[in-house]
Amino acid sequence: MGDRDQPDARAVIAAEIAARGPMRLDRFMALANAAYYGTRDPLGRGGDFITAPETTQAYGELIGAWMVEVWRTQGAPTPAVFAEAGPGRGTLMADALRLIDRLAPDFAAACSVHLIETSPTLRALQAARLGDRVAAWHESLATLPEAPLFLIASEFLDALPVRQFRRRGEAWAERAVALDGDNLVWTEIPATPPPGRAGEVSEAVEAWIAEAAQRVVRFGGAVLVLDYGHLGGAEDTLQAVRAHQPVDPLAAPGEADLSAQVDFAALARAARGAGASVFGPVPQGAFLRALGLPERTAILCRNAPPATARQLQAAARRLMDPDAMGLLFKALAVLPPGAATPPGFTP
Ligand code: SAH
Repeated sequence: MGDRDQPDARAVIAAEIAARGPMRLDRFMALANAAYYGTRDPLGRGGDFITAPETTQAYGELIGAWMVEVWRTQGAPTPAVFAEAGPGRGTLMADALRLIDRLAPDFAAACSVHLIETSPTLRALQAARLGDRVAAWHESLATLPEAPLFLIASEFLDALPVRQFRRRGEAWAERAVALDGDNLVWTEIPATPPPGRAGEVSEAVEAWIAEAAQRVVRFGGAVLVLDYGHLGGAEDTLQAVRAHQPVDPLAAPGEADLSAQVDFAALARAARGAGASVFGPVPQGAFLRALGLPERTAILCRNAPPATARQLQAAARRLMDPDAMGLLFKALAVLPPGAATPPGFTP
């Protein structure tokens, strides 16, 4: 069931398949996720999944400090843009700005805050959280001001659509969605993958990072990507999650979060192709440890009630633990050509 004012995603998808035939996986994922994010707040314990910034304020604070450091290294360009793609509830940005206001008022004064968010529901939550700190919301990178860009994307790119190509004898096939009676079912359609590519490919992710990298090359700044992902060659990492449980991606489009792991090798290639310097990917655990997550957590715990302190410690462990988010999640930074190695990365 969709929201009352919103066309039901399943009905929209079924009608398009009935009219035009099998639907490519990337189109399916785009329609399902637009409906999903457009109609709800999926984050937190009562929602479908929990993200890093929702577990500890230290996450957004360390990212804010990273941006300030890179901005200073580039000569503190003014004016500049501090932007986030897919800000969810606005928690990361709120934590980053609180730290920046206290420790780097020069960065706060130099930057206007821009959010890239397509969901009207989440835009409203971000507005409630961040108020007049937000200069503007954007549908995409295209309308950001032409200025040095300090951009964070944390668990954003995994929501963008993927395609999947498989070898079938001498030919290639692409994963698609068809109708069997009233049911959505997987099928394959003939297709040619982009040159040299196979398996899971996200043209949307690669186009996004290329556009962000072009801006950084032209105007200065940095893009920091944190997400779960692999180093290339994956066949199928598509997953649907509802109420913290994996579900069948076809069962209820628009009612479950669809995501795919980010291909960090493709990400690095696309950013380098745009002329940028790329650092990483490094494991998130190593990255956050180098930025001082254990030390920051210890400081926060000193003034916190015991229950909160335990939560903060558990969150920090979860973000760094190799068996939790420490290895699967990765950090990658995109900077102008010739830039110095940013904090948390190795040359
Ligand atoms: N970064 C946040 C939220 C992650 S959920 C956190 O870690 O808590 C993904 C976010 O990306 C949501 O805000 C969602 O509405 C947004 N989003 C999904 N697809 C998008 C698109 N194509 N363009 C812009 N924002 C998108």
